[in-house]
Amino acid sequence: MTDAAGRRELPKTYDPQAVEGPTYQRWLEMGAFRADAASQRPHFSIALPPPNVTGSLHIGHALDHTFQDYLARMHRMRGHEVLWLPGMDHAGIATQNVVERELAKQGKTRFDLGREAFVERVWAWKAESGGRILGQMQRLGDSVDWSRERFTMDEGLSRAVREVFVSLYEQGLLYRGQRIINWCPRCLTALSDIEVEHEEVPGELAYLRYPLADGSGALVVATSRAETMLGDTGVAVHPDDPRYRDMIGRTVRLPLVDREIPVVADAAVDREFGTGAVKVTPAHDPNDYEIAQRHGLEAVNILTEEAVVNANGGRFEGLDRYAAREAVEQALAAEGLLEKVTEAPHAVGHCYRCKTEVEPRLSLQWFVATKPLAAEAMEAVRSGQTRFEPARYARTFFTWMEGIRDWCVSRQLWWGHRIPAWYCPNGHVTVARQDPSACAECGATELRQDDDVLDTWFSSGLWPFSTLGWPDDTEDLRAFYPTSVLVTGYDIIFFWVARMMMFGCHFQPAAPFRVVAIHGMVRDAQGKKMSKSFGNVIDPLELMDRYGTDALRFALYDAYDPAEAARLLHSFAWSELADWAVELAKPRLAAGGEDARRAGAVLAYALDVTMRLLHPVMPFVTEELGRVLRDVDTITLGPWPVERPEDLDEAAEADMADLQEVIAAVRRFRAEHGVPPSRHPRLTIVPVGDHQAELLRAEGDSVRRLARLETVAVGPPSLGGGPTAKVLAAGAELHLPLAGMIDLDEELARLEREREALDAEARRAEAKLANADFVAKAPAAVVDKTRARLAEVEAARTKVVQRIQEVTATAGG
Ligand SMILES: [Zn+2]
Ligand SMILES: [Zn+2]
Repeated sequence: MTDAAGRRELPKTYDPQAVEGPTYQRWLEMGAFRADAASQRPHFSIALPPPNVTGSLHIGHALDHTFQDYLARMHRMRGHEVLWLPGMDHAGIATQNVVERELAKQGKTRFDLGREAFVERVWAWKAESGGRILGQMQRLGDSVDWSRERFTMDEGLSRAVREVFVSLYEQGLLYRGQRIINWCPRCLTALSDIEVEHEEVPGELAYLRYPLADGSGALVVATSRAETMLGDTGVAVHPDDPRYRDMIGRTVRLPLVDREIPVVADAAVDREFGTGAVKVTPAHDPNDYEIAQRHGLEAVNILTEEAVVNANGGRFEGLDRYAAREAVEQALAAEGLLEKVTEAPHAVGHCYRCKTEVEPRLSLQWFVATKPLAAEAMEAVRSGQTRFEPARYARTFFTWMEGIRDWCVSRQLWWGHRIPAWYCPNGHVTVARQDPSACAECGATELRQDDDVLDTWFSSGLWPFSTLGWPDDTEDLRAFYPTSVLVTGYDIIFFWVARMMMFGCHFQPAAPFRVVAIHGMVRDAQGKKMSKSFGNVIDPLELMDRYGTDALRFALYDAYDPAEAARLLHSFAWSELADWAVELAKPRLAAGGEDARRAGAVLAYALDVTMRLLHPVMPFVTEELGRVLRDVDTITLGPWPVERPEDLDEAAEADMADLQEVIAAVRRFRAEHGVPPSRHPRLTIVPVGDHQAELLRAEGDSVRRLARLETVAVGPPSLGGGPTAKVLAAGAELHLPLAGMIDLDEELARLEREREALDAEARRAEAKLANADFVAKAPAAVVDKTRARLAEVEAARTKVVQRIQEVTATAGG
């Protein structure tokens, strides 16, 4: 809207929709968010935690992003060279699942398409439907540098991934080994320890009888998974357990399978569990695997990738693990070898993606030896190079890092960074930066690349430096690494923060962040963490449509501490700007002339400062107000208001404080004594000193209006005008005639009525308590309640009587 002179005019109500889109577009056109690595200004950088390519904005992101945007905008206005770098994560399992679900609708699996076609299909999906969240980020107002947008699978980042993989391999920090890993029989992939969610489930403990091979007796072992006995290759007892001392070194005959297996002594056996003798199933339990390693026991895998019994399970082949459990127990019972089955709930791991029960599985996987990397990361936090905010999260970080185990990084997926390892027919492994044409050891040219891809957190762990051009030595890397702050939720300290710390500290001269700011999770009314899988996600876009983006941003903040800033600014805008500055300016503006011009200038200045302070919190409305009211091109590039301007008039500031104190004192008195707004008493002020007298005379009319008074006199109190209240404020004495303020007769009548009501209630309670029947027969709780109520009534009555005496004294005095 423009007026006759072509100036933009402010509509009466603010329409966020009409303002936000065009404003953001204008910022992009002026390059407001583009960072200049060559700039001499102090640098401030944030790497946006890359949202999943499958993702869309939920309220948790809105919180995350608003927090980061607040920091970016504030630093930009303060004259920093700000880089807030956006991008997306390819999100291995999550994305593959989305595309597989689409295929399933057509009755197909990824195997029908084959690897190459499937991966092409995922890229096509990404081009079409992926990255919806980026548009939503624009909507939210994120001041990110779109010219530097990255994707974890783009060419540069893929090169960084390969460089890190090969370097770690060369340094002996990455290896391929047989390990028991967490396997999801539905997703058909390995999972890292932290991708497994443990949950208590109802379960059982089955006691199985294993006859000694020489027929001289039997051993009883307890297990929650009877079907795994098909893969037993030993029985273990504690070396110091007197019950089994004679058994060590003997052999038992494994029922159903008819395999002879040894009894071994191992200190890892828990004597308290079950019977103290445990079955050893190396291929299906990580602890058993370790026992087997120590005693040279064979590992027999009895399950397929889908957790169905395989040929090693003999007649149970083809049954899934749950059906097999029942069948094995029945078969043992039929042979009289099932001692008993008791109920025993226990914690079971579930796939964090699909909630299927995880199956421990022995397989050949790639691992990162994390201990040395974790030590470097912990040192960076201990030395203060990286600080957690709030500080208590450093403990969470240390707890996890101290207990860290080697990280299984291979995933049996097709979508992701394919592992750069090649195998020759002679069993050699070649790990290389460039695709090799021959085996590095024997020169064989028939090479097969590893089928697996890397854990998606492997590439996101490099995010703070891979996005800046590493492994090349780039201007961006030198200018913006280490980043100033990482803003994220505590739920991914393990998944992500820890990995970035390990990789950053190991591959760069410094840790990746100066500050790690952790905010609370957004929780719904039931206190549940909000996430897509819980179906309780509030759609922030809906809120934005209803209230405008600024309102969403302004609400919703957490520690470190934009919330506090928002609260202070809110109270400043209302109590200082609206209540005082505008109110005091009104009569001056109405008067016209020089007074009006000066008042106008002061208000405009105050408004300008307020808009700028509010801008990082509410960018759209402040930009619009700044442009319309102050006729500036933009306020997003600063400057930030100076804290105490050099030409600040300190005397005027002190005068203003006096004035506010006087008005506030009268208001407080009125509130405390219930003076109705319609009563306008006369105020006499006895000032302290000539300067204050002059000030109060000059501003008497403002005091009168703002404190709702009839007149304001400055000088000695008038004598003989009836009872007055004396209030002290700013060193001055304020005299208020009571008679004019409170209708004493009305107040007395009201108080008498209140006393009568209390008297009546007290009498009723007393009568009840005097009734022996009531006291004897009513439940004790009811009697107690009556006594407590009587005490309350008596206390209230005492107060009313006191007040009656005060008012009577005033009326009479
Ligand atoms: Zn799964
Ligand atoms: Zn070879």
